Parts: sequence; structure tokens; C-alpha cells
Amino acid sequence: MALMLQPEVPNQALKSATQFPRLAVLRLHFAIVGCGLGGLAAAYCLGRAGHTVTVFESASCISEVGAGIQISPNLSRLLIRWGLGPELLRASVKPQSITFRRYKTGHRVGWTKWGENMDKDFGSPYCHLHRADLLDMLVKLASPYMTLFLNSRVVSVNADLGELTMESGRRFRADVILGADGVKSMVREIVIGRPDKPIHTGDAAYRAVIPTSEMVKDSDLKPLVDHPEMTGWIGPGRHIMGYCIRGSREYNIVMLHPDRGIRGEAYDIPGSVQQMKADFAGWEPRVEKLLALISHTLIWPLFDRDPLDTWVHPSGKVALLGDACHPMLPYRAQGSAMAIEDAAVLGVLFSHITSRRQIRPLLRAYQALRYPRTTDTQLASRLNQKIFHLPDGPEQEARDISMREGMESSLR
Ligand code: FAD
Repeated sequence: MALMLQPEVPNQALKSATQFPRLAVLRLHFAIVGCGLGGLAAAYCLGRAGHTVTVFESASCISEVGAGIQISPNLSRLLIRWGLGPELLRASVKPQSITFRRYKTGHRVGWTKWGENMDKDFGSPYCHLHRADLLDMLVKLASPYMTLFLNSRVVSVNADLGELTMESGRRFRADVILGADGVKSMVREIVIGRPDKPIHTGDAAYRAVIPTSEMVKDSDLKPLVDHPEMTGWIGPGRHIMGYCIRGSREYNIVMLHPDRGIRGEAYDIPGSVQQMKADFAGWEPRVEKLLALISHTLIWPLFDRDPLDTWVHPSGKVALLGDACHPMLPYRAQGSAMAIEDAAVLGVLFSHITSRRQIRPLLRAYQALRYPRTTDTQLASRLNQKIFHLPDGPEQEARDISMREGMESSLR
């Protein structure tokens, strides 16, 4: 029960995946469907390994929703090794601790020191960043290595030919097509050979960013800015995570709640601030004060999917990466970390290729290296949904006691 939001420890495969020891002897052509965080990281890693990379993105520009993102040490380590350290540290806030609070009273039920402990224990910092800032960094990193087609929705993939077709009817062939097309991936159905839809998890997230200049005017909220930490308020069927981003000029707040049947396809559905406040009515005063500072919010319905049997089409010409193959609830803050780790492993494996015959075995090796870690993370994220959202009662009390004990031992 005490395990709530632990930073991921790097696995063996990743230790070598952070290096780029060589340029591939054989230069392949990769087509990547989707220019999200995972697609960009893959473009960089495969490009760095010497391959030609073409990326197809349905949107008309590369952008991210206005919200924060948690970068755990397993991800910050990769970004730093790729040369993004100074930018990452400049753009992010390092939380000094994580605190969980009871939703109604605000009493602290769990606390763990982070800050320099992250560097000490995991060799890299925990960072809070604006999603757009992370995207910008990856765009800069990947741009020299990729040709990008915007407004280019891929509508079908012929896996035997390694050929994709865009909405315009234009076709494109590659040695390998990578589906980095997110939780609603169409490439996924091609790879597994059957229809497969995202699962509504029953939860949705309100997202908002608050200027901290407003928060510091209130003595209850000021400490959240002066001593940056990750604060989680946990209550029945709902929880809130809040943290500072952008040099503590902004406070990111994400409010998880039952989705009430929202079935939108988009991530950025405008939400009702009034409904948002009603959903968290009766929560402790700090929460009410934070919500009072929000003038508009977005709703993200939360989907995930069951772990797949395979990420690689039998032809050996199409494979999946990121949310396309292992989407997860954000309750361990690991979705983009896993996508970017996938890219790192692909980059290193394909830097060793010497013959086309090795493509399929290398894609299978990629899956074998990544599958246990991403599956564990998917399932642990689902488990956190249950743990965070326990109804009032003995199980919730037992959770809080175990968290409090964890807190006391870490304070000793
Ligand atoms: P996406 O980012 O979804 O990118 C897919 C891209 O493919 C998009 O640009 C899309 O336009 C494009 N596309 C789709 N279909 C097509 C097509 N047919 N043709 C061409 N292009 C196409 N992760 C963390 O590590 N830390 C966090 O703190 C964190 N917080 C989160 C909070 C919330 C509320 C949510 C919902 C998620 C969070 N995540 C977090 C998870 C993270 O956002 C995702 O796991 C990550 O963005 C997945 O990246 P991706 O590249 O696989 O997919």
C-alpha cells in the first residue's frame, strides 16, 4: 500500500540504451506515424544511429496541451545524456518532496523527501516541466534527423509491403513503419490484425495552470510556491496532483474524477469550471482556494488498453511504440517516460544492424526488452487508480496509516 508514486528504476536494457556507440553499417529508412513525444524521440534516436527517418503527423503543427508533465529520473537521465541537461534544468522545477494529503482535512498522510535524494538514489533529478517546453526540446533534438510531413494523416498501412497511405492518397514505402500514433493508434490494429479500441477507464482529468503570482497573495497557498513539492490530495473516486512549473511562475493542477460518460475523441475538450468546482466541493480550504483561481479548464477523458501479445507485425515491417502499444493511466506519471525509453532502445538496437535479415529479430528483441517493464507500469498505474480512489472506510484508513508510517520512517 505504501507504494504510491515511485520513480522508475532503470532496467538493464536501458543502461546501454542511453549510449549511441556507433552509426549503423546499414542505413535503413524508417517511417514514423505520429510526431508526439514518442515519435520525436524515436526520430532522434534512429536518426542518430544513422538511419533515414520520415515522420507523418496528422496535425497541422506540432504542439502540446498547456499543462505540466512530471519527468522522473529514468526519463531525465535520458534527456541529460542526449545533451538536454542545461535546458531541462533551466525550464523545470525540482520538487523537494512529495506529500499526500487527506482530501477533506488536508492532513498530511504521506511524505517523502525528493530533491537531491533523487540524484543520490536514482542518479538523476525529478523535474516538473511544461509539456510545451519538453516538446520544444525534443523538436530541436530531432529536427536535424527527420523529414516531417504535417497535415499528413496516415489512413492505412500495408504491412507486407511496408507501405503507408496518407489521407491525400499519397503512398510512402519504408523498411520499417513505426506506429507512434498514440492511445487511439490505427497502426496498432494493423500490427495485431484485429479491431481493438481504447478502454474508457471511467476517469477523466481536468487540467489547468494557475499563475503563482495569484497564489502568493494567499498565506495558505504561498507555501506551495515557496517550497515546491508535488502535492497529492486523495479522496474517494478522485484525486488532485499539483506542482510548480516554469521557474515556479505557474502551478500545474490536474484533477482526476469520474468521467460521467464523456466519450470525446479529443484530449482538449473545454470543461466547465463550475462543474469542476462542484466535483471537488467540500475538499480542504487550500483546494477550494486553488480552484477559485482557475478561469478555464480542459477535460481529458482517460483511456488505457490491456497489454498486447505483440508489438511487431509478422512481416517484420511494422512495429509500435509509446501509447500506441502500452497506453496507461497517468497515475504513475510514466506514459511519456516509457515512450521515450522505447525510442532509446530502438535507437541502440538499430545502430547494430548490418543486414536486412536482422530487421525482424531486432524488432522482436526491442519488444522483448521493453515488454515486461512497460506492462508492469501499465498494470501498476491501474492499481494506483484503486489505491488513490478508495472510498471512505476501513481500507482507506489502512492505506492512510501505512502511508503515515512510511512518512514517519522517512522523517526519522
Ligand atoms: P501521443 O503524444 O499521443 O502522440 C501521438 C501523435 O500521433 C499525435 O501527435 C497525433 O496527432 C499523431 N497521430 C495519431 N494518429 C495519427 C495518424 N493516423 N496519422 C498521423 N499522425 C497521427 N507521462 C509522463 O511521463 N509524465 C506525466 O506526468 C504524465 N502526465 C499525464 C497526465 C495526463 C492527464 C495524461 C492523459 C497523460 C500523462 N502522461 C504522462 C502520459 C503521456 O502524456 C503520454 O504517455 C505520451 O504523451 C505518449 O506519447 P506518444 O508519442 O506515444 O503519443
